[in-house]
Amino acid sequence: MPSLSVFGAQWGDEGKGKIIDRLAADADVVVRYQGGANAGHTMVVDGEKTVLHLVPCGVLHRGTKNVVANGVAIDPVQLLEEVDALRERGVEVTGESLRISAGAHLIFEHHRRMDQLSEHWLGEGRIGTTGRGIGPAYADKASRVGLRVSDLLDPERCHSRLSAVLAEKNATIEGVHGADPVDLAAELERATALGDRLRPFVGDTGAELRADYRAGKRILFEGAQGIMLDIDHGTYPFVTSSNTGTAGIPAGAGFPPGHIDRAIGIAKAYCTRVGEGPFPSELRGETGDAIRAAGNEYGATTGRPRRCGWFDAVAVRYGLSLNGADGWVMTNLDVLSGFEELSVATSYVMDGEQTREYPAHLPALDGCEVRLETRPGWQEDISGLRCYEDLPASARSYVEWVEELIGTPIVMLSIGPEREQVISRGL
Ligand code: GDP
Repeated sequence: MPSLSVFGAQWGDEGKGKIIDRLAADADVVVRYQGGANAGHTMVVDGEKTVLHLVPCGVLHRGTKNVVANGVAIDPVQLLEEVDALRERGVEVTGESLRISAGAHLIFEHHRRMDQLSEHWLGEGRIGTTGRGIGPAYADKASRVGLRVSDLLDPERCHSRLSAVLAEKNATIEGVHGADPVDLAAELERATALGDRLRPFVGDTGAELRADYRAGKRILFEGAQGIMLDIDHGTYPFVTSSNTGTAGIPAGAGFPPGHIDRAIGIAKAYCTRVGEGPFPSELRGETGDAIRAAGNEYGATTGRPRRCGWFDAVAVRYGLSLNGADGWVMTNLDVLSGFEELSVATSYVMDGEQTREYPAHLPALDGCEVRLETRPGWQEDISGLRCYEDLPASARSYVEWVEELIGTPIVMLSIGPEREQVISRGL
C-alpha cells in the first residue's frame, strides 16, 4: 500500500472476495468503484461463509472503512438487506464504517424489468446477464436520465425525475414488450423510505478518499468483475457495463490516477466463465466437469454452473498488462490436486496464424483454437500447507512455469477458501 488496486484478471469469480478480505487486514479503507449486485464475493472466516454483492469486502474487519463509490450501480434494497444481514450476525455497520457516494446511480424496478425483457428479445445473441438491472441503469446514466443516491434524499426531486423517466420506460415496457407497467406511486413510496434509511451513510466519498490518501491512510480498491468482462477491453458485447480494472478507479471513485500506487491481479490456476461469450480454453467434456466438481464452480450470485477450462496464459497476460499489474495472486491451486496432467493455453491460432497476443476485436476469436502445453500434475492435498517449499515439486513447477509464461511475479498462492489458506510469495 498506501493505495492498491486489486482486480480480477480473468472472467470473474477469481476469488477476489477472499483475497480482498485477507488484504483488508492491512487496509484502512476498502472501496468498491464499479459494478452492482451482479458481483458475488465469497469470504470464509473460521468456517463461516459470507457472500457480499455490494458491501465492500473489508467489512469483516473492525475499524476498516468501506466505501461504495460513485461508479457503483446501487440497488438500495439489496444494499440495505446486506447491511441488515451483517448486523444480525454481529458485524458492526455504521455511518462511519460504511460510506455511500451521493453520486452513485440507483437501480429501480424498471431497470430490472428492462434487463430481463431485453435479454429475452436478443435470442441467440443474449448476453446472459444476471437480470438485476445493472446494464439498464448504466445505460440511463450515459443517457443522462439516471437517478442518483442524492435524489433519493430529496423526495420532491425524486418525484419529478422518477415520474418523467417512468413515463417513457412504461411506454416501452407496455408498448414494445407487452408487459405490465411499473407502478409510479409504489416506487415513490419505496424510494422515500429507502432514502431515509440510507441517509446516515451518504456523503461525498471522492472528497473523503482524497483526504484519506493525503492523510496517509492505506486504501484498497476492490474490482468487482473480471477484466475480460470490461466494457471497453473485454469480450464485447459479452461483458458487464463498466470498466472493471484499475482504469475504472479514477472515474468510479473520484480518485486521481497518479495516486494509485500498486496494482495486483487475481487469477485462478485454471479458467471459468459464467454466461455467454467467447472462452477459448473451455473444456466441454469430462475434464471440464472434473474441474467444476473439484472447484465447486457454481455462481455465487445466480447458482449457475460455471464453464470451466485450462489456464489461459494469453488472456491473463493481456489482463495483467492492461492494468499495469505489479504482481498477481494465483487462486484455487488446491483444486488442481489429483489431475494426472495439467495443460495451459500458451497461444491462439486464428485464421491459421499462431499468436501469443489477445485480439483487440471479438470476431477474431470466432473459430479460434488454443495451443495447449502440458505438464505433470500432483496428487497430494496441498490445502493445509503454508510454505512454498513444502509444495510438491510438480506443483511448484506448475506455478513457476505459468509465472514465466505470464512474465509478472506471482506474489501469493491461494490454496483454499478460508482466509488463512494462503502461501505468501512476497505479498
Ligand atoms: P469473486 O467474485 O472473485 O470474489 O469469487 P467468488 O466468490 O464468486 O468465487 C470464488 C469461490 O472460490 C468462492 O466460493 C470462494 O470461497 C472460493 N475460493 C476462493 N479462493 C479459493 C481457493 O484458493 N481454493 C478454493 N478451493 N476455493 C477458493
